[in-house]
Amino acid sequence: MDLAATILLVEDDEAARAAVATTLVARGYRVTEAPDGRTALRSWEAARPDLVLLDLGLPDIDGMAVIVRIRRESATPIVVISARGQEKDRVAALDGGADDYLTKPFGPAELHSRIRAVLRRAGGPDADTEGIVTVGPVVMDVARRSVRVGGVPLELTPREYELLKVLLAHTGRVVTTGRLLRAVWGSAYTEESHYVHVYVSRLRRKLAAADPTGEAGRLIANEPGVGYRVVPPGADAPA
Ligand code: CA
Repeated sequence: MDLAATILLVEDDEAARAAVATTLVARGYRVTEAPDGRTALRSWEAARPDLVLLDLGLPDIDGMAVIVRIRRESATPIVVISARGQEKDRVAALDGGADDYLTKPFGPAELHSRIRAVLRRAGGPDADTEGIVTVGPVVMDVARRSVRVGGVPLELTPREYELLKVLLAHTGRVVTTGRLLRAVWGSAYTEESHYVHVYVSRLRRKLAAADPTGEAGRLIANEPGVGYRVVPPGADAPA
């Protein structure tokens, strides 16, 4: 249980803030509210919360500035809230150190699933002590650089393997296309986002072909205009 984790909720829209706060309190979180960026930073400094839920469009200072300020001295998970049509802001926030995002309007199940994923991640790496990462029918043995789907070895090229590794390491959380490009191809690659799209398609085809249940083929979800996210089977079922 994430019981009693403290969440700093930064949102200038009073009705939206009250609704989110009510949902979080009902889930057992402790919530501190801030209606603007300056109040948020004061509150963050006074009582370091376990997670910051941050609306990007604030009346005083930009949400981006809040992220930069927090990241200067802490790895506190940050989930940004943005409006539709703000893909650029979302990518900038994620590349600037935010851990995930929610697009308005979002439901309680989505809110809780995002929060749970980033809090779990903050608690430590996803691989077990043997270096085995298991997500649905897919099992990655990091030490042996091997992948099995439903117990059967899956042949991947080195790049496909690296791509899957980065995605699985962030299970439940979004990874931007730019981040995947840098992690798998290298920092010299900045404009070649089509490489990522092509390789994700190949990876999906291989995963789908290896799993008659269809679960593996659906593991990597699109985050339009932002990147990709591994969604474990059953993870988004309303809780
Ligand atoms: Ca706002």
